[in-house]
Amino acid sequence: MAVVLDLLTKDNRPRHPEKAHRPDQPVQQRKPDWIRVKAPGSPKWAETNRIVRENKLVTVCEEAGCPNIGECWEKKHATFMIMGDTCTRACAFCNVKTGLPEALDREEPENVAKAVEKLGLEHVVITSVDRDDLPDGGAQHFADVIRAIRARSPKTTVEILTPDFLRKPGALEVVVAAKPDVFNHNLETVPSKYLKVRPGARYFHSIRLLQQVKELDPTIFTKSGIMVGLGEERNEVLQLMDDLRSADVDFMTIGQYLQPTKKHHPVIRFVTPDEFKAYETTAYAKGFLLVSATPLTRSSHHAGEDFARLKAARLGTPKG
Ligand code: SF4
Repeated sequence: MAVVLDLLTKDNRPRHPEKAHRPDQPVQQRKPDWIRVKAPGSPKWAETNRIVRENKLVTVCEEAGCPNIGECWEKKHATFMIMGDTCTRACAFCNVKTGLPEALDREEPENVAKAVEKLGLEHVVITSVDRDDLPDGGAQHFADVIRAIRARSPKTTVEILTPDFLRKPGALEVVVAAKPDVFNHNLETVPSKYLKVRPGARYFHSIRLLQQVKELDPTIFTKSGIMVGLGEERNEVLQLMDDLRSADVDFMTIGQYLQPTKKHHPVIRFVTPDEFKAYETTAYAKGFLLVSATPLTRSSHHAGEDFARLKAARLGTPKG
């Protein structure tokens, strides 16, 4: 687990001004043996890095300090974060910079599409910062990016990981009309932790958003994920699974929360691989088409392989 102690960005502004004056949180110095990742730096990793830089793209892999970046970039799999690197919210788990974002880059849809083409991706994951400052929360920009990718790479399947578009009527419809293959919106944690962990969001709004995607277009796969280790109880996770199933969500991901800096929510505990396995078994029993529950599971980890498994599961063929 990388705990970043330097809270300044490259231009010397605080990365998390809203958190700078908060008391330091306890930091778990030793991570368990089961949290082991591949170090970045291989030639293929460097090539992915070059394409990201050349197209002036932002990745959540870097901004969130994802532990899987060595493995994913080696496979040329990067998750693009659109609409800038600055988020209008300040969730207690997230390392993405908070502040007032810049205007949208009108060339971004085309630049993302070019990068997808150069990387030769069969499946791409696009996420974004929260843009509560925009009248549509960035819905049209999401749709523009999906369409630009389709125009350049018609065979590439597109997965989006969106914010909640809270209080932006009509935004969801605009995104769904662009027909992403997978619509992911993360619940992040159980409802009892929302006030501390995800204060700008509303649990049942997120559930309803996922349900509406299926109502608007039942052909789109829906997906949602949570982090564990934030102090949640097992029975709360099981209730959350039921809530997702009642919204007809197809795919659930569960991963260990890792603390980005000492100003972020502490890791309350490391959930063991056996407990993850038990969550996976229970989630399948509740009817999800696909479940990924391991300590290093992240929303976009192995997303391409998982999409193939989702399609197979919908057709009733073995999970593989
Ligand atoms: S798991 Fe997702 S965010 Fe992390 S490195 Fe892989 S693609 Fe990037």
